[in-house]
Amino acid sequence: MRSSLGLTERHLFSVSDTIRKKQRSLQMATVRSKGNKATELKLASILRSAGIKGWRRHQPLPGRPDFIFREARLAIFVDGCFWHGCRWHCRMPKTRLGFWYPKIARNRKRDRSVGIMLRRRGWRVIRLWEHSLSNPLRTVSLLQTALDSSLRNG
Ligand SMILES: [Zn+2]
Repeated sequence: MRSSLGLTERHLFSVSDTIRKKQRSLQMATVRSKGNKATELKLASILRSAGIKGWRRHQPLPGRPDFIFREARLAIFVDGCFWHGCRWHCRMPKTRLGFWYPKIARNRKRDRSVGIMLRRRGWRVIRLWEHSLSNPLRTVSLLQTALDSSLRNG
């Protein structure tokens, strides 16, 4: 059956399908960027409850580290399992693979080059996976060790 515009029903269906897919990936992007914020807040609360002080967020350094300890020259990134392609938890969306896959590959590439830039400026870089925050004790001990050794080595 043809509509008055001469489009077949199937054609109309595929257009609305495409729009729906676009909306869905937009929604997904929103959900995931909120997820990233939540992950940062989670680390902030882990640090607070462990009584670890002296950190700042979002300082103007290469890659905008999520947290820095200026005195210890330690930069911390919390990597969302999806956005940074965690091997355990990154499930590729079924639609628009051609968009998501290169995007995540670019993120990973940028993570590496940001790390190189920061190290050149004398920063140590720690990247924590979002999933690792589910073990606060381990996270704290990892950071505490890094902080102690940074401050010791001056
Ligand atoms: Zn993960």
